[in-house]
Amino acid sequence: MDLRRLILALTIASALISLANTLYASYQVQRQQLIDAALERNHAYATKLAASTEDFFDSVMQQLGYAALVVAGNFNDKRFLAAETERLFLQTDSFNSIAIINSRAEVLATSPQSLNLVGMQLQTLGATQSISSRRPLISQPYLSTAGNLVVFISHPVNDAHGNYLGAIAGTIYLKHENFLNRLLASHFYEDGSYLYVVDQHRRLIYHPLNERVGTTVQGNPAIDEVIAGISGKKQIVNSQHIEMLAGYATVPASGWGIVAQRPREATLAALDALMLQVLLNSLPAAAISLLFIWWCARQIARPLKQLASGARTMDQPETAEEIQRVHSWYYESSELKKAMLLGIGLLQKNINRLRHDAHTDPLTGLGNRRTLDQALQTWERENTPFSVMSVDVDHFKRVNDTYGHEAGDRVLQQLARHMRECARERDVFCRVGGEEFLILLPRTAPDVAQQVAQRLRLLIEQADMAPASHVTISVGIAHWPGSTPDLARVLKTADEMLYQAKRLGRNRVEVHAAVLAQP
Ligand code: GH3
Ligand code: MG
Ligand code: MG
Repeated sequence: MDLRRLILALTIASALISLANTLYASYQVQRQQLIDAALERNHAYATKLAASTEDFFDSVMQQLGYAALVVAGNFNDKRFLAAETERLFLQTDSFNSIAIINSRAEVLATSPQSLNLVGMQLQTLGATQSISSRRPLISQPYLSTAGNLVVFISHPVNDAHGNYLGAIAGTIYLKHENFLNRLLASHFYEDGSYLYVVDQHRRLIYHPLNERVGTTVQGNPAIDEVIAGISGKKQIVNSQHIEMLAGYATVPASGWGIVAQRPREATLAALDALMLQVLLNSLPAAAISLLFIWWCARQIARPLKQLASGARTMDQPETAEEIQRVHSWYYESSELKKAMLLGIGLLQKNINRLRHDAHTDPLTGLGNRRTLDQALQTWERENTPFSVMSVDVDHFKRVNDTYGHEAGDRVLQQLARHMRECARERDVFCRVGGEEFLILLPRTAPDVAQQVAQRLRLLIEQADMAPASHVTISVGIAHWPGSTPDLARVLKTADEMLYQAKRLGRNRVEVHAAVLAQP
């Protein structure tokens, strides 16, 4: 797991959580809105319908009231009464029948006349209530003798002195075609909504399922409230155990309750599609922000990744340059970069010092056998010809014996300084033994090497080597590949030339004869 994946995982996880959270929150809000809107709509509808019904009752009561005035003066004229009932019946389609009764509930006139009730005493609930109350009255719905569910609306007829003569009444058959039936029973139910009406005794007087009309409903909180005269809206569970969003209103004139309701499930059916739409709409923005996050994660992780890969190769000389190139654009990465560059600097310095130490003779500062081997390997690989001078101090024992070992060391140091003075950049100087040196001269012919050796020999001979007065050196020279193509042998050959110089009296230079003989 690297930093980039870590940042990505973290940000994607948090983006997904917040997306889910947003969806959930918007789901809850939309759901509540749908419920509230359905409740409000049902309440408004129930209220409107209750008001219309109330208006209807007012209007029919007015019609009956006017007719009561008209018939009061002619209450004994049967023909007049018959004509008035006929007029009322035909003028509107409010009533299914009209009747005028006297104070003993005997029928004086009816319309339609086919009812054949004239002269009979009405025993119905409506007639009884009407006579006993002697007031304008809308009866409870009841089953008539003919089996119709009936509402009996009556107005008292009083003579000029206010004496009660009887009543004029209209009946409305709740299940038959009439204005009230059309008002309450005809609705569009395509969204699952429906409406029903109950009377004061919780009896259904209108319901889309005709067989339920006339039955009593118990345990419905909306009905409980509406028959108590309270209008409002509520989430309820109906008698069929279905959750409903109900709005309800009362009709004061009749004490009826109108309930408009819609199953909650039908109301919320659109929500899933709505949420899918929300999700689809938010996808492009989510994709863009994920891309952006991915890009940011890359930008943040990149300098750290580069620094980390540099940390693995801190001993390599090119690493410092690679780290230098890292674009550390924020605080932490730039501090890390600085610290790493500092560390690499120190490390490289130490490595260089160790490398230098490993290749340097501590007494003289010249190269050692490692330097020698390295140069030989390189030149052999690159096929670079070279001359080799084997140098030994003459009678050095005597120096030591005369001036002491430390003085001998100082002489060796001065000798080394003189050697370096004669050197060219590419020449390699090594101290290979106590007072023995090897000087390698790349691309140098043996005769040139001989000249260099003579110059060095003279220089040493004439130099002041305090505390020893003077020292001399002997030099043997060989050439690769001139003396021998065998690299190991060429050093031996130079040594042999050195011993020859010693044998021939010291303080002299001897060159391998085979190479000097070459043109
Ligand atoms: P020759 O002319 O034959 O070379 O005589 P020499 O006395 O120089 O003999 P050789 O080269 O065999 O002796 C080397 C001497 O160098 C032996 C030792 O006393 C001395 N020597 C070797 N290493 C050191 C060193 O590091 N410091 C000092 N002061 N003397 C050394
Ligand atoms: Mg020696
Ligand atoms: Mg010697």
